[in-house]
Amino acid sequence: MKKIKEIVIGTNNYGKYREICGLLPKKIKKFSIKKFKILGPKETGGSFEENSMIKASYFSKKTNLVCLADDSGLEIDLLNGAPGIYSARWASNKGNFDEAIEKVFKKMNKIKKDWKNESTARFICCLSIYWPNGKSYFSKAIVKGKISTQKKGNNGFGYDPIFIPCGYKKTFGEMKPKLKMSIDHRYKAFLKIKKFFI
Ligand code: IMP
Repeated sequence: MKKIKEIVIGTNNYGKYREICGLLPKKIKKFSIKKFKILGPKETGGSFEENSMIKASYFSKKTNLVCLADDSGLEIDLLNGAPGIYSARWASNKGNFDEAIEKVFKKMNKIKKDWKNESTARFICCLSIYWPNGKSYFSKAIVKGKISTQKKGNNGFGYDPIFIPCGYKKTFGEMKPKLKMSIDHRYKAFLKIKKFFI
């Protein structure tokens, strides 16, 4: 199999960009879509799989490069899986996750006052690769955990300050980035596509 030597990372989310670059081997040439000044496509899919493929094919066609795109999000059982594919959209002002986290707490409190023991949740990540010749491949992975009753930690991005992965006491926001990136949904999804790079 011909290994990928250069790739465009199909995301406008800097937190994701940083983590995906950290997963890829150093010697691979990585391009940010910022460099091409392209805005993202409309995420019209009904699933993480569809949305990650929409992004990968869109950015690959725009740049004529192999593209690796991520669609990910948080599913909370008490909220019937919300925010799910709308995780980014819960921060109305893109990137304002204080607002999205407040929304999570508000909705959970409305359903149950004391939800501390009913806060199971999972992060999901779908990674899609799209080649300029039309070939594509995708992988999906999850990391199970629970929602913290308080926002904790300043590391990471998005919902990291309220997500405690199974087997740990700290939120992703409190963890050293290296630890988060060795157990999270993105890392697990990457393991399944690693063969295209290494
Ligand atoms: P999208 O895939 O661009 O639609 O956005 C996914 C959203 O899910 C991000 O904006 C984050 O809010 C959230 N998310 C996905 N992965 C993570 C993660 O590793 N930590 C925290 N939040 C995440």
